[in-house]
Amino acid sequence: MRVFVASLATETNTFSPLYVDRSAFETAFYCPPGMHPDTPTLCSAPVVAARRRAGTDGFTLIEGTATWAEPAGLVSRDAYESLRDEILGQIERAMPLDVVLFGLHGAMVARGYDDCEGDLLARARAIVGPGCVIGAELDMHCHLTDKRVAAADVLVAFKEFPHTDFLKRAEDLVDLCLRTARGEFEPVSEVFDCRAMSGFMTSRQPGRDFVDRMLAMEGRDGILSVSIAHGFAAADVYDVGTKVLVVADGDANRPKAKALAEALGREILGWGPSGGSPHHYKPEEAVAQARAEEGQPIVFADRWDSPGGGVAGDSSAMVEVLLRHPDLPAAIGALWDPVAVSLCRGAGAGAEIPLRFCGKAASTSGDPIDAVVTVRATTDDLRIPFEQSWVSLGPAAAITIGNLDIVLVTGRAQTFSPPAFTDLGIDLSRKKMVVVKSSNHFYAAFSKIAAKIHYLDTGGPYPADVTKVTYHKARRPLAPLDPNPWL
Ligand SMILES: [Zn+2]
Repeated sequence: MRVFVASLATETNTFSPLYVDRSAFETAFYCPPGMHPDTPTLCSAPVVAARRRAGTDGFTLIEGTATWAEPAGLVSRDAYESLRDEILGQIERAMPLDVVLFGLHGAMVARGYDDCEGDLLARARAIVGPGCVIGAELDMHCHLTDKRVAAADVLVAFKEFPHTDFLKRAEDLVDLCLRTARGEFEPVSEVFDCRAMSGFMTSRQPGRDFVDRMLAMEGRDGILSVSIAHGFAAADVYDVGTKVLVVADGDANRPKAKALAEALGREILGWGPSGGSPHHYKPEEAVAQARAEEGQPIVFADRWDSPGGGVAGDSSAMVEVLLRHPDLPAAIGALWDPVAVSLCRGAGAGAEIPLRFCGKAASTSGDPIDAVVTVRATTDDLRIPFEQSWVSLGPAAAITIGNLDIVLVTGRAQTFSPPAFTDLGIDLSRKKMVVVKSSNHFYAAFSKIAAKIHYLDTGGPYPADVTKVTYHKARRPLAPLDPNPWL
């Protein structure tokens, strides 16, 4: 058996002013064939999962390119086409193939391509023909278009948010595709379109129990795989919104898959537009809450300024508020500001300098802060763990203003884990309030050190409130912009 694997991924916030060219992929994560590390990244786990299975099963694995750009705005046409054609060329040269596996994200939008993954999968299908099994792993924050469902045999999305299961889902994908190629299964897919922009966290209820039940349904009664594509509301594309995908074995199980997809979709809709989402504190309210609570640190996520959502991560909103509370021991990070980092590195650790920082990338970033700061520490590369992967935030600096410590970075990435602070000498156990730039991926690692975790609404820029966004391409009706036709 001959198996090919490649990965092409990013998440596109079409409202973000940060544009993505090929160098954004090459800088963030770019592995030519065979150069992928032993550890997976968020969207390249099928490479690692396929390698491990090749070791035990003895098939021939041909590796293609694996690349990722940090979520941002539109991808350039040249970046997408050149990376796509690089991978398609590798597939052509690897023929004949029995299985083609992709690690995708599923929310990449390039100039002229609203459905990059559908385009890639359809072109791959045209090369390998109907007899080859095509499978892809998707982030749950994807646009589940009909084109990609039609082009692939098996699509498997992450189930967990935070995404603690990217390697497990890649293993599921590889297993389903290998068994399909061996003739054990005939996968068929059914999709229920919730006609809503929604989503839920699995670090809390009702999402936690819901996903545990989904997992228990798989591998029984003809149901092979169940995925919820939560969708990614920060994209003006036709297929934005939440969909349920059920993969069953054989046409005989199609009615069962269709009914299950609809039942799960209706259950999500029953939770209402917030999907059981937690209270989001306004900035001053958050400070008062941190002061009122027992223990420390109280960790707050600045959800709508998370680089993981394609925005800059340089909003000054919470820095301004924390500076109004000089008695409060606090830390905030990681803020994206390459210029300020270079100034701090030039001055060196221990220097006291006047610094202008953050609040630059967009009008929604707020105003820059001017302050006399002490450069606490600098590093050539701030590398932090996220589950089984390592993420680089690039050259970085920690600065101190009184009781407030601030982490500034050159690489735009989420604050996945405490080493974003502790590796720069900031002791989080001495902080009453810690603010992280992340939507929910911080949760697993920070829950181990936090006295309590909360979520912030600093007003943007992600879009925090979809009812205030003008969508030109989204199919309608679509709740909460319109009444939900299912309810
Ligand atoms: Zn995601």
